Amino acid sequence: MKITEVLKHEIPSLSFEVFPPKTDASFANVKEATEKIAALHPSFMSVTYGAGGGTSQYTLDIAKNIKTLYGVPTIAHLTCVSSTRETVKDKIRAIREAGIQNVLALRGDIPEARLHEDRSLWDYHHAVDLVRELKASDADLCIGGACYPEIHPESFNQKEDIRYLKEKVDAGCEFLTTQMFFDNNLFYNFLYKIREAGITVPVIPGIMPITGANQVERAIKLSGSFMPQRFKALVDKFGSNPAAMKQAGIAYATDQIIDLYANGITHVHVYSMNKPDVAEKIQANLSDILDISCDA
Ligand code: FAD
Repeated sequence: MKITEVLKHEIPSLSFEVFPPKTDASFANVKEATEKIAALHPSFMSVTYGAGGGTSQYTLDIAKNIKTLYGVPTIAHLTCVSSTRETVKDKIRAIREAGIQNVLALRGDIPEARLHEDRSLWDYHHAVDLVRELKASDADLCIGGACYPEIHPESFNQKEDIRYLKEKVDAGCEFLTTQMFFDNNLFYNFLYKIREAGITVPVIPGIMPITGANQVERAIKLSGSFMPQRFKALVDKFGSNPAAMKQAGIAYATDQIIDLYANGITHVHVYSMNKPDVAEKIQANLSDILDISCDA
């Protein structure tokens, strides 16, 4: 099923993101974790693409497995900046052969070692190039893209970032998923600005439950997200107690999701990071909200 069809339902819903294994040795563990998350029957699941593309086959294996065993619609992520056109075309072919209908088209981070290369020789520079490639190879694929409520770290300013986002949407992105954020007001402001800029496709807020103090630094480095005082206080207070931090992190994420639903957002994507217990607790915390919606 296409994600754009899922997003048409005007009732609160939840989806989860998982990541593929890095090695054959960890495949069984990841498969088990992702199946447990799929067994929760979220609206859909997305499977990330290993940075640099080294584990790309696993993305498809996991996405196909979830879809086949649990009937959960899946999105396969795909990056382009470290790849040649030939490789990307092979990947697109493999996606279609795996029966995956939804792709999150990403540029990917530029590896440190390639930062000073002559970029005129690269086949892909931005995600928009991949969106065009995907559209040209199969007009029936449902293509999504990433967006950044707190602007992409490489952007000069938000105006420019939104201008390029519009270009990506005009090229064929049918939905957008946000980078994680910890202050919903940043998301609401961003949504207002992109709607004003003429971007009308569904925007799925991505929520990252921070369940360990060690995750905080990594998440901030990766996303550049603003940490509200309320969140900092929680990490200061509970960071040294893993069980308490996990409970507090899940509660914070739940609170963000409820606020999003209350403000008219119908779909939220949770960066569940291959943690079935976290996904299950968040879903349980929202059970009445999600149940009420089922009865509606
Ligand atoms: P782009 O849309 O290309 O944007 C990157 C930068 O270039 C921005 O500053 C933008 O303003 C600018 N830009 C865009 N178009 C142009 C243009 N035509 N001319 C000049 N400048 C332009 N990484 C992975 O490796 N695997 C994953 O599975 C993965 N999943 C992700 C999922 C989400 C929801 C998000 C938010 C990020 C994900 N990432 C993933 C990280 C992502 O690859 C990085 O954030 C990367 O740096 C940018 O990717 P993008 O697709 O947003 O790039």
